Amino acid sequence: MTSISDSLLQKTDFTVEEICSLLKTTGEDNTASLFNRACMVKNTNARQGVHFRGIIELSNICERDCLYCGIRRSNLDVTRFQMTKQQILDAALWTHKAGYGSLVIQAGERRDAGFIDFIEEILREIKQLSCGSLGITLSLGEQSKDVYARWFEAGAHRYLLRIETSDPLLYRQIHPLGYSFEERVACLGYLRETGYQVGTGVMIGLPGQTVAQLASDILFFKKNDIDMIGMGPYIPHHSTPMSQKPANCTENSQFELALKMIAVTRIVLKDVNIAATTALQALKSDGRELGLKAGANIIMPNVTGTEYRTGYQLYDNKPCMDENSEVCRENLVAGIKNAGETVIYGKWGDSKHFFKRRGMESLNDPISINEVSGQERRREQC
Ligand code: SAH
Repeated sequence: MTSISDSLLQKTDFTVEEICSLLKTTGEDNTASLFNRACMVKNTNARQGVHFRGIIELSNICERDCLYCGIRRSNLDVTRFQMTKQQILDAALWTHKAGYGSLVIQAGERRDAGFIDFIEEILREIKQLSCGSLGITLSLGEQSKDVYARWFEAGAHRYLLRIETSDPLLYRQIHPLGYSFEERVACLGYLRETGYQVGTGVMIGLPGQTVAQLASDILFFKKNDIDMIGMGPYIPHHSTPMSQKPANCTENSQFELALKMIAVTRIVLKDVNIAATTALQALKSDGRELGLKAGANIIMPNVTGTEYRTGYQLYDNKPCMDENSEVCRENLVAGIKNAGETVIYGKWGDSKHFFKRRGMESLNDPISINEVSGQERRREQC
């Protein structure tokens, strides 16, 4: 059994070997110490409580052909959909009324002018309908710096773009020829320069992925001064080229590894926001609650209309397929209470790390980051 020392848990700077040894923690007591330490670090350094971001998965139309993803362009079994503007605004209004504080808008990747304009228009209207009070995270893939700037100006202030793996070779193995790892890293830079709170993350348990690579992923987050992390287990989708279940890795061990990634990321990065992602729940019914107990502080309840849920299956066994937004909320709130955590309503719950890196540490969870955009101005006009 690998033992875990208190002095290692309390360090502030970690080498890749030290991170590896934390990720390899085994045994009930050691694992409990790791998770307890992560929660202690969370309680001292990150936003208090659990913040919800209602996620709208507004379209499964995708230009990209990532080998692992159920909505990849070449998957002809998928019926493609695009929610209408009114449907998106209705979901946003529901989220606002439910007091979630923030929205995530996610979709397959499109770079055409029609889509870019559509998102910009939606952002402005969501801001208007909530009098500026809904915080908005985008997760719409690789775009030009100009597009990121347009969407920022229209009201989005956080952006999630997973690097998927920080190992360039593994990245090439899970993407079609010609997809550039360097361009994806560059996009994280454009987002940061534009003024977004920048989120990234990886898939855990990819075929051939090693613990050393996962440890390097955590150092990648640190080196790139990332504000928010969204990561979860890799789960095969039956109609992709990567439909094989990874050998030598049970669902249980993969789930445990995903929790350890959350805990160790918390211990190393400290003040960032970390999501307990839906993919955790695909492996265990209370997966997201266990993610909170391992150091996560964000949950993204699905607020997409149930008629579109089956169309947005990035992986098999995606949970909450037939739960409407109400039921999804009730189940989550009960589970979170059970886990001994509290949901914070009506706040953006921004990453403390973002304010620290911009020298605005004194701002205590402002509802708006008017210093970096015109959002406050628009709120006043509402
Ligand atoms: N178009 C956006 C959003 C993509 S889907 C973008 O490119 O950023 C969001 C995330 O789902 C991806 O970044 C990937 O990490 C995850 N994902 C896709 N397929 C998956 C699978 N089979 N198992 C687990 N996660 C998957």
